[in-house]
Amino acid sequence: MARRKKIYEGKAKDLFEGPEPGTLVQYFKDDATAGNGEKRAVIEGKGVLNNRLSEFFMVGLQQIGIPTHFIRRLNMREQLIRQVEIIPLEVIVRNFAAGSMARRLGLEEGMPLPRPIVEFSYKDDSLGDPLVPEEYIIAFGWASQQDMDDVVSLALRVNDFLAGTLYGVGIKLIDFKIEIGRVWDNEFPRLIVADEISPDSCRLWDIETGQKLDKDVFRRDLGSLSDAYTEVARRLGVLPTNVTHRPAKPTLIN
Ligand code: 5GP
Repeated sequence: MARRKKIYEGKAKDLFEGPEPGTLVQYFKDDATAGNGEKRAVIEGKGVLNNRLSEFFMVGLQQIGIPTHFIRRLNMREQLIRQVEIIPLEVIVRNFAAGSMARRLGLEEGMPLPRPIVEFSYKDDSLGDPLVPEEYIIAFGWASQQDMDDVVSLALRVNDFLAGTLYGVGIKLIDFKIEIGRVWDNEFPRLIVADEISPDSCRLWDIETGQKLDKDVFRRDLGSLSDAYTEVARRLGVLPTNVTHRPAKPTLIN
């Protein structure tokens, strides 16, 4: 059988040509990186968990009318997605201060923000994904003003869905990053949620204990990343069978 053509190699995912025009296969790897690739590890089973979790969130978004690139999961590590023209931005929504915002402004991590704040980073690893104001985005032509209005509206709807869904399983959504892509339906451009939604791209804290259940566990050496992601998947009822990783200890709640 002919091997599929790899069209993009990322830090945590690869993209392959899809079976039909306008589709791609997204493959979730076990690689974890932090600090723009300075810290690296292979976390056995992470790709399997993120494939399931991203499927869970993308399907949920679609069910409430928010378009995403997700078509269907193919197997433990792969999903079929729509090919998009990616807008070269990381769209970040914050509900509580943490990470780069807390550092930049000298805020205590976990401080509630007066309202959800949407911010943008220009996707360029060699520059360290710098924070950019909307004015740069429009001026440099990375997206139009209309696009940006749609991006903010999409991001806030995603925030409401994710925050509510996670609250239901005892998890506080501190912040997250999404990417947005453009597709053409009958010559009409439309913006849809692309890339992935997983604990790699969100900050998730247990509501009761404040325990971190996201990639900060890896970034800050706080314990087992697989245990944290397994716990998120377990609470959401999407724990896959046959993941090579087995948690060493019992689960964290109940
Ligand atoms: P911060 O700007 O505080 O480092 O990140 C804000 C949020 O966006 C966090 O949930 C973080 O995980 C996510 N995020 C920011 N940059 C990246 C990135 O390059 N890759 C991924 N996967 N997530 C990111």
